[in-house]
Amino acid sequence: MKIKAAVLREGSGPFTVEDLDLAEPGAGEALVRMVAAGMCHTDLLSRELPPEFFAGPQVYGHEGAGIVEQVGADVADIAVGDHVVLSFNNCGDCPACNKTRPAYCFNFGPNNMAGGRPDGSSSLTDAAGERVGSHFFGQSSFASYAVVAQNSLVRVDPAYDLTKLGPLGCGVQTGAGAVLNTLSVESGSSIVIAGAGALGLSAIMAAKIAGAATIIAIDRHQNRLDLATKYGATHTISTTPDEMTAAIHAAAPGGTDYGFDTTGNADVVRALFGALNNVGSLAVAGVGFGDITLDFLTLISGRSITGVMEGDSIPREFIPRLAKLNADGEFPFDELIRTYSLDEINDAEAASASGEVIKPVLLF
Ligand SMILES: [Zn+2]
Ligand SMILES: [Zn+2]
Repeated sequence: MKIKAAVLREGSGPFTVEDLDLAEPGAGEALVRMVAAGMCHTDLLSRELPPEFFAGPQVYGHEGAGIVEQVGADVADIAVGDHVVLSFNNCGDCPACNKTRPAYCFNFGPNNMAGGRPDGSSSLTDAAGERVGSHFFGQSSFASYAVVAQNSLVRVDPAYDLTKLGPLGCGVQTGAGAVLNTLSVESGSSIVIAGAGALGLSAIMAAKIAGAATIIAIDRHQNRLDLATKYGATHTISTTPDEMTAAIHAAAPGGTDYGFDTTGNADVVRALFGALNNVGSLAVAGVGFGDITLDFLTLISGRSITGVMEGDSIPREFIPRLAKLNADGEFPFDELIRTYSLDEINDAEAASASGEVIKPVLLF
């Protein structure tokens, strides 16, 4: 079928909205009519990588929300007409998937970031008949329709507004899941969260839901710190990494129980780790390059540090839970959204990059 999609033809170039041909869903796939798709940092990773890492024309988008129009063979639990949020894909049968930790799937790369299905095929061709990469995070949802891998499909209550729910598929579940799943923040505890973008603000909302007594937000931009305060931060810090540990200790004497980094800045990670108390835990979701150095004595005191992907979530359990919290007014992540048409996708990227918009969402 003919669809409209935003294609990235060069790693550093603009998105171009094109007419593409989308194949029928195969076994283990469903055709989804997209209603909305959030834009997340990972859609733009090619901006930061050397050109040789760009694998050719590709449709990105991994926070889709839409309605199932057709179901291929061997698809369990999903039917035509279902309202779905689209999340990451996973293989379903590796040591991580078998331990119900699909975000750490040993086959995450081929299932999410290989420019096609794990077998190398693509569901998309352009007007010249050339291959365009599909199945980004099992979906490639910057498109009016997508053929989606079944493990990316999360059914949600049709009473909810799909134009709001796409960001639950990646960024919002990553921030909320770091707090509620990875760290299991308890009532009365203290947490410091670095970076008040989509991940950090979702984490702040989740820390408030968990009942954390002290929620410290760190960011360089005052408008984001104002949002942090609005959504539950009890303290805000805007300082350089070398003064950060002391500033956190001023807000949480004795150190924090938890920390969460969304900046990907190694110096910030080191400062957050140094600010934990002796049994504190730090989760790191920011994607940086290079090495993180930690002081030996702070580590062997009993602190721990872990990476976090996708909020360590089981999407079919966690996303409906977050959607219900939102509907109940306890998790207002949708207030971070600004909507754009597909034709405005380059404006959406620019507004996100400048910090003006926390979470762009494309509407179809
Ligand atoms: Zn797996
Ligand atoms: Zn993402």
